Amino acid sequence: MNKLSDNRRDFLKKLAVLTIAGLKVSAAKSTDIIEPVYRERPGAGAMNNDATGPFTLPALPYAYEALEPHIDKMTMQIHHDKHHQAYVDNLNKAVTEAKATDVSLEDLCKNASKYSKAIRNNAGGHYNHSMFWTLMKQGGGGEPTGAVADAIKSTFGSFDDFKTKFNEAGKTRFGSGWAWLVVNNGKLDIGSTPNQDNPIMDLSDFKGTPILGLDVWEHAYYLKYQNKRPDYITAWWNLVNWDTVAKLYATAK
Ligand code: MN
Repeated sequence: MNKLSDNRRDFLKKLAVLTIAGLKVSAAKSTDIIEPVYRERPGAGAMNNDATGPFTLPALPYAYEALEPHIDKMTMQIHHDKHHQAYVDNLNKAVTEAKATDVSLEDLCKNASKYSKAIRNNAGGHYNHSMFWTLMKQGGGGEPTGAVADAIKSTFGSFDDFKTKFNEAGKTRFGSGWAWLVVNNGKLDIGSTPNQDNPIMDLSDFKGTPILGLDVWEHAYYLKYQNKRPDYITAWWNLVNWDTVAKLYATAK
């Protein structure tokens, strides 16, 4: 580990970082700014501090079985511990080779066109999954309230119309990818991206700041739902953590 990384790690350790339901509240800040894990530089609160490279796997903000019966325990174990870990490991390898270990995850995504395919795929994989875990919780679902609910209704007509449009984005994404609700120029929009691309990538056809995302890769649902992606999407609505969505919406606006 080089000196810069050691210094950064020491700095991060000194921050009194609390992990609350996947959101970090940094006591080092003078205001009550709550930032999602995926916006942070890697460090405290991560599971794999021995990884060679700047990025680490964030801990799930709940138990593997917390999302049962909608998403089963084994899917969560494999999805988080194997798939997400692989994105982190491969990203560390790719940024080390590219001598880009001091670039933030967000900047790697935003400038994806300037980096290798390996960085694009694995930075996207790390960003998307880090966000995804915080967008679900046990006892989630229902309908949002407040500003984000108002924006959904004024943009899409009703909450049900919004769900229908989001479901279509997920169902019709051919092969592997993600469905998204984003804020773009202050307005909500729904779309999807292939593979591990995301709407903050400069090379993405669909752009914006994501505030809700759904993983529609087969690895996200195949053990329980096999080929029935629509059943997985229907069940997933019971898990949506609207508190996270509301915070992301407030930040994105
Ligand atoms: Mn996934």
